[in-house]
Amino acid sequence: MSAGRGHRPLVVKFGGAALAHPERIAGVVRALRSSGSPVVVVASARERVTDLLEEGVRHPTSAVRHERILREIAARHPGLPPAGLRQLDRTRRLFAEIRRQRAADAPLADRVRSQGERLAVQWLSARLRAEGLASVPVEADHLGLITDNAYGASCLLLDRSRAAVRRGLGRILAREELPVVTGYFGRSLEGRVATLGRGGSDYAAAGIGALLGASRVELVKRNVAVYTADPREVPEARPLPELSYEEAEELAQFGARVLHPLTIEPARAASMVLRVRSLDDPAVRTTIAPGRRGRRNRAITVLRPLRLLRLRVAGGRQRPGVVAEVADRLAAAHVNVVQLFTSSALLCLVVAPDQATAARRALRPLERESAAEIESPRPVALVTVIGDGVLDDLDRLPAEAVAEAEGLSATPRALSLAVPLGRGTRVVRSLHRALVTRRGA
Ligand code: ASP
Ligand code: MG
Repeated sequence: MSAGRGHRPLVVKFGGAALAHPERIAGVVRALRSSGSPVVVVASARERVTDLLEEGVRHPTSAVRHERILREIAARHPGLPPAGLRQLDRTRRLFAEIRRQRAADAPLADRVRSQGERLAVQWLSARLRAEGLASVPVEADHLGLITDNAYGASCLLLDRSRAAVRRGLGRILAREELPVVTGYFGRSLEGRVATLGRGGSDYAAAGIGALLGASRVELVKRNVAVYTADPREVPEARPLPELSYEEAEELAQFGARVLHPLTIEPARAASMVLRVRSLDDPAVRTTIAPGRRGRRNRAITVLRPLRLLRLRVAGGRQRPGVVAEVADRLAAAHVNVVQLFTSSALLCLVVAPDQATAARRALRPLERESAAEIESPRPVALVTVIGDGVLDDLDRLPAEAVAEAEGLSATPRALSLAVPLGRGTRVVRSLHRALVTRRGA
């Protein structure tokens, strides 16, 4: 095999379920290398392992539960090499540390969460060596993939990572070996382990691809494609072969669980192609690249359950500072606004159910100071139509869907309706029929 001097590398990330098939992973790597490009593998934790680690964090005092979790995790990594067994011991010590502290603060929780990927790269590397590939496990924090200090939901700091990541991976590639890098986490500015949020291995892979100047990053998943809607909800949904960066970003943001919401950013910044593909069926794939004119993608997503909070502000438009004040108060209370609809004197905020109380409390002072009136939160689903040029479709929106809306917002690439929670599925189906199936595009 030749690393092919001058060829830009390819980064290929395998999701937890795909890891169950190391022989197919070896096949994918060989096929990608056959063009002469050096390949870097990024791995998530094996299926369910991150959930198990989270469970351990949520039960900080139960030694019995921690032991059961460790057994289950071990069972998911049969034939671990010695370095992998050391990671298992390390997980055991981290659980003991949580029990001693009777709680896990955010950085300790992230150290625990990162163990799934550390185990995965040891396990996968050993399997790939058995398949004849000179595979080398790499831990992203040691490599120098740097993040901010927002433990549990950190962001990659690519400029600070560039030199170390290029040097470290470049050295392995120069030996014509195959680096297998942990996804999901990096090293924070203060030098601790920081995870990128659930599903963060996609984001890590995109970041590493951008740092290496990769020509493409492939995200290999099992039985997963980017669909026009969730096929469990809309039986006639179909895979989308191409998406612009902007469409993919909106999709990730508005509830299509296939991609971590920050994945697109490094790809766009580096004009790098991202491809989501299925391990099972090579024909099922979505290519995410700069938008092409004339395409008419439409995808319908739904986020739920959510809560809609309505705030009436007396005087509305006469008081231009009001939206800013609402936003500031919510930000100070760490409330994340999923969607905001405003008219002159009415502000509608859509938030997660577990943030509705905090949002109300944060806005209460406005009732006194600004004669505002806050209604009790209503349960809603947020249905979003995504696609470049979606405003052209306003005249096709089915009346029955619009009639359900308690709020609506639209930009040229995403149009969202908040509808009563129980109506979500009906509205998704009706929008899909009108904007995807009937168009037949
Ligand atoms: N293992 C992590 C998770 O399950 C990261 C990932 O899979 O992308 O969220
Ligand atoms: Mg995972």
